Amino acid sequence: KLSERLQGVMESLRGRGRLTDENISDTLRQVRMALLEADVALPVVKTFVESIRTKVVGQEIDKSLTPGQTLIRIINDELIALMGAGVRPLNLRAQPPVVILLAGLQGAGKTTSAAKLAKWLKDHERKRVLLASTDVYRPAAILQLERLATQLGIGFYPSDPSKPALTLAREALQEARRSLYEVLIVDTAGRLHVDAEMMAEIRAISAEVMPTETLFVVDSMAGQDAVNAARAFGEALSLTGVVLTKTDGDARGGAALSVRQITGQPILFMGTGEKTDALEPFHAERVVSRMLGMGDVLSLVESVSRNVDREQAEKLARKLKKGKGFDLEDLHEQLLQVQKMGGLSALMDKLPAQFAGKAAAAPQANDKEVRRQVAVIRSMTPGERRYPKTIDASRKRRIAAGSGVPVSEVNRLLKSHMQMQKMMKMMGKGGGLGKMMRAFG
Ligand code: GDP
Ligand code: MG
Repeated sequence: KLSERLQGVMESLRGRGRLTDENISDTLRQVRMALLEADVALPVVKTFVESIRTKVVGQEIDKSLTPGQTLIRIINDELIALMGAGVRPLNLRAQPPVVILLAGLQGAGKTTSAAKLAKWLKDHERKRVLLASTDVYRPAAILQLERLATQLGIGFYPSDPSKPALTLAREALQEARRSLYEVLIVDTAGRLHVDAEMMAEIRAISAEVMPTETLFVVDSMAGQDAVNAARAFGEALSLTGVVLTKTDGDARGGAALSVRQITGQPILFMGTGEKTDALEPFHAERVVSRMLGMGDVLSLVESVSRNVDREQAEKLARKLKKGKGFDLEDLHEQLLQVQKMGGLSALMDKLPAQFAGKAAAAPQANDKEVRRQVAVIRSMTPGERRYPKTIDASRKRRIAAGSGVPVSEVNRLLKSHMQMQKMMKMMGKGGGLGKMMRAFG
């Protein structure tokens, strides 16, 4: 598995005092092997390894990091760049109905993703969505989409499988216009392998419905097949983005690294399970930190746990495991622990680069602010600490007055708490939690 291989490489780098030409070459060779074994396309691997080499050579060693950490940071940043930093939302600004066309091999997850996207648009964007299938070769596929649509309470265009796919696409678009749907998602047929007929059909459908988004749906476990399909679909259609499915599987995981480069388009979403709510906007930063492992975070946790009440740490771990949120009460405890240890600055260099960068920008980075934040939280009622969402403008004013800070300080605290909550959630999901508990134990 790619993440395991990369974690092995990271492990060998950790704590390394000096980088020599020899151990840089050795590390790059290991990274290259790990990527190739995970079925990342060869040209992608080559470019990737070369760009790391160039960066390492031209790198000024950051004084707060060891050379090993510097190399980890470069690899981290390059992996993020490879998959695309930041999040690209769906483009919904076109004249409605906005058409989203899904393309990909059979079994990639198009039909499932069509339903997931529809639900996502309904829940997050409050859009009226119409789902339509053009998969006339497998009537079961139309039924599959209909079931999902019904279950989710989303509009469904009943395709007649005796008509040609192109006709169905045209009719679905007419129906979307007539019934004032805001988004039309068109599911298509897929073949097990790329073939000319299938490409011609989907091109015709695309020309008919003029999609705003043409998303290539790809199974993250598909390896070299995924690479070939990405190339073929990329040549046949003007793709605008990628949906990476089955990221919950025990995949070799190479597809994630290749598709962006090969299609030239960003990964917009990833499927994380079979259920219709198992869809997340794609964050390369998160995926990479999972790939490279949370080792540095663990060593941070370890040094914290030496200085704090073990019971509290376990309580937090249990809570995270149960999927309960990291609330302000927990943040309060953490801040006290940080104070006990002589301040956050002592911990900063233990954080992995991507977190250290964020932490430095976060308000708690300054030890004086830690004290102020503790004061702010203490001015809250227990209910407010549990349910920060209930803190409205007048409560904020009261809390600010109570702790002697401006309201903006309260806002900043709430915002950074929300970010931490997200990070905790992600650690809980990414398997980091089990490791965290072992680190405590
Ligand atoms: P299509 O042929 O491209 O339309 O693929 P389907 O949508 O029918 O999906 C094929 C199989 O993959 C189905 O059994 C889905 O339940 C499963 N599947 C799709 N997306 C995911 C995912 O993100 N995670 C998991 N675990 N399974 C998925
Ligand atoms: Mg299908």
